[in-house]
Amino acid sequence: MPHQVPIIDATRCSGCGRCIAACHLNLFAFETQAWRKVSVLHSSERCSACNKCEARCPIGAIRMDARLASPANLQRRITPVTASAYGLGQSIS
Ligand code: SF4
Ligand code: SF4
Repeated sequence: MPHQVPIIDATRCSGCGRCIAACHLNLFAFETQAWRKVSVLHSSERCSACNKCEARCPIGAIRMDARLASPANLQRRITPVTASAYGLGQSIS
């Protein structure tokens, strides 16, 4: 089975921090994107795919996905969505 990692929809993340507290490997950290605090996954290759973060998110902003597991794909997925949602027209890093 392909390794899955959590994909965070940064346009929906409320910055509550529950996924950060849930991860036993401390793979999440807050980042500021478009003047909002959002949770971002780091070191996705270390993820054990335990699903705790997905289960703890109160608004369903996290889903497990194998197709987007590489760091490059995570960046492509998250950054343009966040920027376009706030009408910025450029990537935020
Ligand atoms: S799936 Fe588990 S190990 Fe992976 S980021 Fe979420 S809580 Fe951490
Ligand atoms: S639990 Fe969900 S809403 Fe809360 S910080 Fe994590 S991704 Fe964002």
